Amino acid sequence: MRAWHVDTPGPLTSDPLRLRTGPVPRPGPGELLLRVLACGVCRTDLHVTEGDLPPHRPGVTPGHEVVGEVAGLGEAAAGAGFAVGDRAGAAWLRRTDGECTFCRRDAENLCPNSVYTGWDADGGYAEYMTVPAAYAHRLPRGYTDAELAPLLCAGIIGYRALKRAALPPGGRLGIYGFGGSAHLAAQVALASGATVHVLTRGEQARRLALELGAASAGDAAGMPPEPLDAAILFAPVGDLVLPALSALDRGGTLAVAGIYLSDIPALNYERHLFQERQLRSVTSNTRQDAREFLAFADEHKLAVTVHPYPLQAADAALGDLKNGRFDGAAVLVP
Ligand SMILES: [Zn+2]
Ligand SMILES: [Zn+2]
Repeated sequence: MRAWHVDTPGPLTSDPLRLRTGPVPRPGPGELLLRVLACGVCRTDLHVTEGDLPPHRPGVTPGHEVVGEVAGLGEAAAGAGFAVGDRAGAAWLRRTDGECTFCRRDAENLCPNSVYTGWDADGGYAEYMTVPAAYAHRLPRGYTDAELAPLLCAGIIGYRALKRAALPPGGRLGIYGFGGSAHLAAQVALASGATVHVLTRGEQARRLALELGAASAGDAAGMPPEPLDAAILFAPVGDLVLPALSALDRGGTLAVAGIYLSDIPALNYERHLFQERQLRSVTSNTRQDAREFLAFADEHKLAVTVHPYPLQAADAALGDLKNGRFDGAAVLVP
């Protein structure tokens, strides 16, 4: 089979990714073999490829938004309920230890021994890959393979961020930054009856926000037209924490969705935190988050914008992502 490998992590211009032919992997105990039907291209893949994330597995195959067809089962993998021919998804969280304090209190996203698809183990920039059956996902109906792929990372993370923002039913939500994750989270909030205000730079993103049903779309550093019950900061810009906290009503929560945020300037207790406003981070996700989000996507058709690339153009897709050459999500289709 063909698979991309990160030989020596470095800038894309140094050609860190190589497409090679090798054997189809054999599913280990408890694992499924997936024939890859589509694999999303995520910014994290760029971090793995360029070495911003330290290498965990030499020559790793990136890709953690994988839509596949079960092509084989390892020993004792049948218990999870997947059979050959079923469709299944593989996401970033590949496995946890299942026994630490965090795993035991339903916070497996915080497990210090978790391993990740496309970083610790080979991912979906390939024709086949393996996934632990207990961490594979059933996929919602009504989407193409390419449309499903971004749901498996951008969608799940956006959903987790929405939960962390503790938006009350019918509440007013502010969304700062409006990329792939944000535009899916906004649709979930809107379908749940929220009023959504989008604050972002970029005329095109604001237009998309209004098309999807946002009540307003304004500049990232501006104030929304009404106080917010909850807000999510998707833009990795620490400066925006201040206006976002100021925009919260009493008791409101701001969730920072990103894995990275530039420094947050000094807060003023009275303006930014008093009246029981809260500032929270969001770290990875649990399987439960993924299941809830995918079930939601099965009931509510979400609009997903995808740009398909053939598998052999993975390096070009990453380059286009890096240079912001498209809106929506790039997806590799073998
Ligand atoms: Zn654990
Ligand atoms: Zn991702």
